[in-house]
Amino acid sequence: MAEVAEESTHVWSSKPRIALFLSAMRHFRDAQHALGRQVRYRALDEPGNTNTLAGELSQTISAERPAKLVMTEPGDWRVQQALTEAARDAKVPLEIRTDRHFLSTIDQFRAHAKGRKQLRLEFWYRELRREHQVLLDASGGPEGGEWNYDAENRGAFGKPGPGPLPAPIRFTPDPITREVIALVEARFASHPGRLDAFDWPVTPADASAALDDFITHRLAVFGQYQDAMWTREPWLYHSRIAAALNLKLLDPRLAIAAAEQAYRTGCVPLASAEGFIRQILGWREYVRGLYWLHMPSYAERNALDAHEPLPGFYWSGDTEMACLRDAIDQTLTYGYAHHIQRLMVTGLYALLLGVEPKAVHEWYLAVYVDAVEWVELPNTIGMALYADGGIMASKPYVATGKYIDRMSNYCKGCRFDPAQSVGDEACPFTTLYWDFLERHEPMLAKNQRMSLQVKNLARLTAEQRKAISARAAAIRAHGGAPPSASA
Ligand SMILES: Cc1cc2nc3c(=O)[nH]c(=O)nc-3n(C[C@H](O)[C@H](O)[C@H](O)COP(=O)(O)OP(=O)(O)OC[C@H]3O[C@@H](n4cnc5c(N)ncnc54)[C@H](O)[C@@H]3O)c2cc1C
Ligand code: SF4
Repeated sequence: MAEVAEESTHVWSSKPRIALFLSAMRHFRDAQHALGRQVRYRALDEPGNTNTLAGELSQTISAERPAKLVMTEPGDWRVQQALTEAARDAKVPLEIRTDRHFLSTIDQFRAHAKGRKQLRLEFWYRELRREHQVLLDASGGPEGGEWNYDAENRGAFGKPGPGPLPAPIRFTPDPITREVIALVEARFASHPGRLDAFDWPVTPADASAALDDFITHRLAVFGQYQDAMWTREPWLYHSRIAAALNLKLLDPRLAIAAAEQAYRTGCVPLASAEGFIRQILGWREYVRGLYWLHMPSYAERNALDAHEPLPGFYWSGDTEMACLRDAIDQTLTYGYAHHIQRLMVTGLYALLLGVEPKAVHEWYLAVYVDAVEWVELPNTIGMALYADGGIMASKPYVATGKYIDRMSNYCKGCRFDPAQSVGDEACPFTTLYWDFLERHEPMLAKNQRMSLQVKNLARLTAEQRKAISARAAAIRAHGGAPPSASA
């Protein structure tokens, strides 16, 4: 095992993300020692550390002279390439074994994709539900008669707000985590993010407690408020288990079984259990399949020809736009934002503004504690930015500020008005939404699922269109944020 600086610097990795990875590694090392196993472990601050995984592997090969190397499929194409090359250079055979953490294999997804004109989550998800016998009724059909209860899962909190929320279980840093936090503060002082609120699960026991806490206190309402947002409420009814899953502290089968059991014992409604299971058995396995099917070219996709730089406020949260400020603030504080904040706030803004996909991808990979490329890249390039031209999503997820207004209380505390597209008070999301439709009209007109939005664009007068384009140009000229009213 090797802690190497390159894994924290190839993108400008945030402090919470680095600390979580290193703490989980050190806890794992100690657990192996306790079992009497030998671990060759290279600490970050150890003299002679080459600071790359390939460098550490080459050194280990020279020292140990192994007859053969065995590795589990990594989560990152770049790492697979680097280690394969290091093994080749040292002329040692390398066997790459299937990662049994996942419920499906890369080859299985390839077979599923073969011959299909279009891939869609739904078919893959149903295949895995059947194969793993998850939420099926006695006849082998979907429990409750439907495969997907998404339509029941789009609630907002409305005016009264979420009310008292069940605070998720916290994992106060133990001595190992505290040591890592001090190391990260010293070694990566200039990196984004903060460590004073660090409370992530770092061991399998923590991860299991986090899952239990979610199933007992939040799963019942998870589905209903999956898409809702609220100022300074980062967790709402979400599980906070993505990082534990991605670091293999938690087996996804356990999360799926616990949710199904909660439904079968009458503790949670079917729509919530199904909605949660779909994220893990469906989306999580689906995006991994897509990643390995399309890498390395997937990372280079830019179907909408977007070339704007990422606005600087993505690294500071310093913006007048209340929704972006809240989502980015909590991202930097905890290394976390929930799915709709990632997709319909930070992702949507980058899409509408036309930010270069690679810059957006590097931001998402850097800032979230659960970020590993196999899952981050398809979500960013495919789902949020439509930069893959429709491989992952059947249409770009675009909306005006009114969507954010409906799903949150952000607009109430914002100086912009989601209903306006031009003028000093215009919500930048709304301006850029119409500008996006205008800029991509010919392509969008060919997509049936966008026909209503394209028709609405046609209702705008030439003058309105001109004013919107001018306001959008001013936003771009002003570093991606609207010029202030007095400017
Ligand atoms: C632009 C963008 C980038 C993202 N980057 C990552 C990433 O780097 N790592 C990551 O794990 N997830 C990523 N996601 C997916 C999702 O947003 C996170 O998994 C989720 O917000 C994590 O919080 P949670 O554990 O509380 O999840 P919950 O909302 O409680 O969902 C339960 C679990 O389902 C899985 N899941 C949910 N949605 C997805 C999805 N779209 N793809 C894959 N798995 C999913 C996760 O394992 C998650 O823990 C990204 C989504 C977007 C739109
Ligand atoms: S008005 Fe626009 S910028 Fe302000 S919070 Fe609402 S959507 Fe965000």
